Amino acid sequence: MPLSDILDRIRSEEARTGRTPGSTRLIAVSKVQPLARVVAVLDEGHRLFGENKVQEAAGKWPALREKYPGVELHLIGPLQTNKARQAMELFDAIETVDRPKLARTIARLKGELGHCPRLFVQVNTGEEAQKAGVFPAAADAFITECRSLGLEIEGLMCIPPEGEEPSLHFALLAKIAARNAINELSMGMSGDFEKAVAQGATFVRVGSAIFGERDDG
Ligand SMILES: *Cc1c(COP(=O)(O)O)cnc(C)c1O
Repeated sequence: MPLSDILDRIRSEEARTGRTPGSTRLIAVSKVQPLARVVAVLDEGHRLFGENKVQEAAGKWPALREKYPGVELHLIGPLQTNKARQAMELFDAIETVDRPKLARTIARLKGELGHCPRLFVQVNTGEEAQKAGVFPAAADAFITECRSLGLEIEGLMCIPPEGEEPSLHFALLAKIAARNAINELSMGMSGDFEKAVAQGATFVRVGSAIFGERDDG
């Protein structure tokens, strides 16, 4: 589907639900996509992208950034502590801060590097064992811990469980954000981004609907 169609659907849903026009930003999730497709979206003028692996992003984005000024890159996949430095050098936002060890490492590197990407805490709203993210009941304490380390938590991110109504998970994420005075909500993917807009998403992460199916299984 053309990028402009996705943007139109976001804008219509904002209008329908009384959101401020333009308050939902579209992250084009370019993981595993052929470079030509990513370049096509850049050539259309889009600049906000998401990748889920540090290594993969490191292989393509430094060169693309040189060619396309203004690129904004979000890490949306789990981050190992030993890749934190590379991630902080590569990404404009890390959406997957989800454990104290990682938060402590980012805080230390923030001091060393003298800069820090925007940080989001990933919440495992469905409390799924195989999924990353802090459980909802532990979210407030973890956010407080991050703040006490000197980290500014600007947003929350979630990936609802397959087969459950995503709106309930989006609403839960919005509630946790509100009570912690957090403004950004990264939620909604190809199958449910309109529902996320209705629940207050400020970022939706859309991959296959823009680029076509990935052959990652
Ligand atoms: C791959 C991915 C997306 C995009 O998924 P689509 O269903 O292709 O839109 C969004 N968020 C995360 C965390 C992802 O890993």
